[in-house]
Amino acid sequence: MVLKRSLSVWLCLVILTLGPAFAQEAKPLLVGGETLEAVYPGNFGVSYTEAKPFAQALGLAYWQDDARVILGLGSLQIRLPLASIPKSRTYLKTLVTKNPPHALRDRGKILLPVRYIAKALGFAYSGSDSSLKVIIPEANLRGIDVTVTNGRDVLSLKFNRNVNLVRMGQGHWLLLGVRAEEGMRYLSGLYLTDVRLQPGPYGAELYLDGVEGWPEEVAYYPQEARIFVGQKASKPPEPPLIVIDPGHGGSDLGATYGNLYEKDIVLKVARETADILARRGYRVRLTRSRDETRSIYERAQLAAKADVFLSLHVAGDPVSPPGPSIYTYTGAGRATPVFTSKSRALLAGGGYKKILLRYAAAPSRVEAFARGLEAEFGRIGLSVRRGQSPLYLLERAPGAAALVELGSIYNNTDRARMSNSAQQSAYAQVLARAVENYLGGVK
Ligand SMILES: [Zn+2]
Repeated sequence: MVLKRSLSVWLCLVILTLGPAFAQEAKPLLVGGETLEAVYPGNFGVSYTEAKPFAQALGLAYWQDDARVILGLGSLQIRLPLASIPKSRTYLKTLVTKNPPHALRDRGKILLPVRYIAKALGFAYSGSDSSLKVIIPEANLRGIDVTVTNGRDVLSLKFNRNVNLVRMGQGHWLLLGVRAEEGMRYLSGLYLTDVRLQPGPYGAELYLDGVEGWPEEVAYYPQEARIFVGQKASKPPEPPLIVIDPGHGGSDLGATYGNLYEKDIVLKVARETADILARRGYRVRLTRSRDETRSIYERAQLAAKADVFLSLHVAGDPVSPPGPSIYTYTGAGRATPVFTSKSRALLAGGGYKKILLRYAAAPSRVEAFARGLEAEFGRIGLSVRRGQSPLYLLERAPGAAALVELGSIYNNTDRARMSNSAQQSAYAQVLARAVENYLGGVK
């Protein structure tokens, strides 16, 4: 009975993989002034097109990681879940017709649902037998105000719809798709001396005079963009941030052996590591500094900001081999900003918030950090096992990130070492040296 059923499931799978999982019919797609191609994965009448040229033609900000695609127009953000095109036609139909529909990954390309995005952004969409069109309505500049706030000049631009500003160079911005009369405005701001507008082929061009040497920042509000000019932006970048995450805590004991708890071992080692690094002048934060419960999401928020992220654990599986283990993750699931700019900020839930200001550490840098940890453990006579694992925290840490299991709680030697305070200090020295070597003395 069981055998028969599994056989029929198997046959069904074979038929699905042999037959064309989806057929694609291409159609010209006119976006703004550019011609792209629209395809119909699965032929369900839902048109898709390649993400990057589409975002470019519409002047959209574009981010992508393994799980989602985010498109930005001014303060508007569209988030689409991302999935590979499945073999099953039924499942593909579910993904394509959901609200919001999924973005689809197809042999290295990312495909976006055209109609959904056009509607969500307030762009016009029209489809006929021969072609599809996405028409960007012209935006109007309704006003420019300049104020001085907290020692900075704030240039506020109001529009009749959400607009993206593209920074062309120092004091030079493109107001994409915006129609504006040519004009000049004399100012007596702190840094700005005048503002000049000029119509251009892609929108109005804005020139700010007097901003030389001062980086600008833009923040988006509904139908409004503000350009900040002044000393805040000119501050040197913050020193690297080291985040150390002692696993578990509070009611979550982690691995236990008698009255020895993982949460206590890793807290002692983490605090000592942080102390060593802080004494040497590094910027360090702990995800918890005492015995308390911290959710994985709170930990992930800090991990996302870290240049170096270390999560400390103890192996609690009776079959775990002895000695330390190091896990890293550099796979496709790791959050990686595809396109971003230091001068961008997007509205997120009420306030404005800078996003993705840091770039992900290259896989080779993560590997270098893990090798450094391995070498430092070797110096105190411990040989390390290494592994790649798409752990939640590692996926969300764009810096050099590693999860270290100091040893196995079921191994007598490891347990004796991990519960001895002189040995705990030795672990802390190992970790601190590896972090310091990785950062190369940059504080
Ligand atoms: Zn643990």
